[in-house]
Amino acid sequence: MSDELTTTVYYDEDADVSTINDETVAVLGYGSQGHAHALNLHESGVDVIVGLRQDSSSWADAEDAGLRVETPDVAAGEADRVVMLVPDTIQPAVYEAIEDELDAGDTLQFAHGFNIHYGQIEPPEDVDVTMVAPKSPGHLVRRTYERGEGTPGLIAVYQDATGNAKQESLAYAKGIGCTRAGVIETSFQEEVETDLFGEQAVLCGGVTEMVKAGFETLVDAGYAPEMAYFECLNELKLIVDLMYEGGHMGMWNSVSDTAEYGGLTRGEEVIDREGMEKILEEVQNGEFAREWINENQANRPAYKQYRDAEQNHQIEAVGENLRELFAWGEDADAEKTEAPA
Ligand code: NAD
Ligand code: MG
Ligand code: MG
Ligand code: MG
Ligand code: MG
Repeated sequence: MSDELTTTVYYDEDADVSTINDETVAVLGYGSQGHAHALNLHESGVDVIVGLRQDSSSWADAEDAGLRVETPDVAAGEADRVVMLVPDTIQPAVYEAIEDELDAGDTLQFAHGFNIHYGQIEPPEDVDVTMVAPKSPGHLVRRTYERGEGTPGLIAVYQDATGNAKQESLAYAKGIGCTRAGVIETSFQEEVETDLFGEQAVLCGGVTEMVKAGFETLVDAGYAPEMAYFECLNELKLIVDLMYEGGHMGMWNSVSDTAEYGGLTRGEEVIDREGMEKILEEVQNGEFAREWINENQANRPAYKQYRDAEQNHQIEAVGENLRELFAWGEDADAEKTEAPA
């Protein structure tokens, strides 16, 4: 077993915000990532314009926070760096509105590589195309920055027209606080393929299907739905917290030996490796991306059906009632995560 990281981690001393201090940065979107990037950069001394639709409800919020707001085309026109922080499915349309504002030597920057990797946005050859992606939701990017800390992040360079793309990405990552925690370099391809695979096979798709299958197996066998809910969904958080803190061994060390032996001998039974390989293949060959792009163009008919089915699953009603009984748990948790580390 190697204790070495296989990749370089960049910290504050590897980056210099002044690299982008002569730039104007257009942050398009003021949602989860957008508000955090714009505010952190602004406080790091970078000249920021937020780009929003005229009718956006966020317009006043951004102005109240002391930021300048323009429509995306105006913001991009003034900017040397255009950061795409609108939803991924909307980015191609927003790109059309700002495409003509990209001058030679400008940078087009993303926080997720989907639209570049799958060819939905094709920037001109004379601009830098980069990624700075916090590995964290936006509210934590903001909250940790305010505490003098940061969240880990990724950088990637897809196109380096100026020769400065990497240093400027690191400077931006420092401006939003990520180099305080550590930044690693990846490629657009690796970021997209691992992100889609992870959310489909393990994090979002895999976990919910496993929870539902476990819940249904117990309920179909005649056990109380409330017992099934606690065992298969509620306790998941305790297990994941242990894994987050100490990896699998941290978790195995904390549960009973009976749980450990049962888990180690039986867990593999519920895993479908071929199914996982198929998911990865469809991510790699673009089949999933094509399906999702078509689904959006058709106004999301299948997406709506799957969402309805999920909403109407028995586990939702059971959970709603049970979570109400334990509402105090949420407050206790909120306090815990608010407290400085
Ligand atoms: P979001 O949905 O939270 O915010 C989107 C913002 O875009 C909103 O302010 C919305 O008003 C604005 N917007 C929508 N349509 C617009 C339009 N036509 N013109 C201008 N503005 C418009 O999005 P997000 O989750 O912050 O995601 C932004 C990017 O960051 C995506 O590429 C996403 O993959 C990536 N990312 C997100 C996270 C995360 O935790 N949320 C983490 C890493 C990377
Ligand atoms: Mg420009
Ligand atoms: Mg530049
Ligand atoms: Mg994702
Ligand atoms: Mg138990």
